[in-house]
Amino acid sequence: MYQTKRLNRTDKVIITAALTGAVTTKQDNPALPTQPEEIAKAAIRCWEAGAAVVHIHVRDDNDQGSMRFDKFQDTVGLIRQAKCPVVLNLTSSGGQGFSWEDRIKPFRELKPELASFDAGTMNWLNKVVFMNEPEFLERCGNAMIAAGVKPEIEVFDIGMLNTAKYYLKKGIIQAPAHFQLCLGAPGGMEATVENLLYLVNHLPENCTWGAFGIGRGANEVLLAALALGGNIRVGLEDNVYYNHGQLARSNEQFVERVKRVANEFGRQAATSDEAREILGITKNRQE
Ligand code: ZN
Repeated sequence: MYQTKRLNRTDKVIITAALTGAVTTKQDNPALPTQPEEIAKAAIRCWEAGAAVVHIHVRDDNDQGSMRFDKFQDTVGLIRQAKCPVVLNLTSSGGQGFSWEDRIKPFRELKPELASFDAGTMNWLNKVVFMNEPEFLERCGNAMIAAGVKPEIEVFDIGMLNTAKYYLKKGIIQAPAHFQLCLGAPGGMEATVENLLYLVNHLPENCTWGAFGIGRGANEVLLAALALGGNIRVGLEDNVYYNHGQLARSNEQFVERVKRVANEFGRQAATSDEAREILGITKNRQE
């Protein structure tokens, strides 16, 4: 088996809570936070439960997927006002029909420590095209470097991993890279252990990585990623069910489970400061 030197810590797991996303609705799960006060509250609760990072999307006034800057500003402002030290990871996608500027402005202006970088275009949920054309990715990567934001490279398919390696070589993404392996989205790779292992074995040298599964394979991917020494993302963005047929009560319910299971394997949930150290985040720290 091809061995990659990885920078994940074997004794720590970085738990990321993906609170809202662009697709899930309150009809799917009433616990979904959609407005700034709700999202900020969920972020703080997840941090208290053991999440080191929160991945943030916002919605418009009708709870539709949005890249409205004022909503990001309010959400981030509330979390920072509460002096919650959680690492912020803002989305750079957010749904359909947004301009490049709409997608870049939140991380450029609010300077989170992380922002998502979707390393390729794909058919999304068998409905629409999730556009991440080369010129946008170059612009997005360069804007992240200029703003001191570390990209969290989202990989839904093996081609995206190759694309990310290309941008690493070109300097559009700076090493050490951090990957989020996203399995189970219709249009991307299925959420299976086999697929997770394949991606992990093809990561570049000296990177960090996390993973999550959407839908049926979610728990399988979670357990396999933990066993492989990966970091874990959970939350209502990716899954509305806690187990088959059982709606999740909250985002933090998912976080609590990862923490519990990781402890059983002898791994501890990384604090936000430990996550910063593991991910090599040196900029945009808010005091
Ligand atoms: Zn997202």
